[in-house]
Amino acid sequence: MAATQKLARHTKQLATIWQAVKDDKSHPTADQVYDQVRRKLPNISLGTVYRNLQKLVALKKLQVLMLGRSQHFDPLVQRHQHFICEVCDRVFDVLIESQRDIRPAKLPEEGFTVTSHHLAFYGTCKSCSSEESTSL
Ligand SMILES: [Zn+2]
Ligand SMILES: [Zn+2]
Repeated sequence: MAATQKLARHTKQLATIWQAVKDDKSHPTADQVYDQVRRKLPNISLGTVYRNLQKLVALKKLQVLMLGRSQHFDPLVQRHQHFICEVCDRVFDVLIESQRDIRPAKLPEEGFTVTSHHLAFYGTCKSCSSEESTSL
C-alpha cells in the first residue's frame, strides 16, 4: 500500500474513533468504543482502537479515567469530577465550581507536591432510583 493511502486509512480510523467518542458522555472503555467503531469500520482491531484512543489522549482531546482496573475515556477534558452509580456502574460528570478547598490535611512527608486529585461521588442514579421504587 502506498504511503499516502496508508496515511489516509490511519487518518480515517482516527477520525472515526474521534466521532464515536467526542459526544459520548458515558465514559466508555476501549471495548465499548471498539463496539461502536466496528459498525463503521468492520475490519478495525481492538488494538488499533486502543492505540488511537491513546493518541487522542496525547492530543489532549480525551482524558483517561481509571475506575477499578479499567480505563474509561472522557471527551470532557476540563477539570471535573464524577458520580458513579453503584447499581448500573454508569459514570456521570460532576462539575465543581471551586477546586481550591480540596486539600489533604496532611501529606505523607515533607516535600510532596500535589498536582491534581480525583474525587468521585458514589450513589444511585436517577433511573436506578426510580426502578428501585417501582419494584418495591
Ligand atoms: Zn444507575
Ligand atoms: Zn467525565
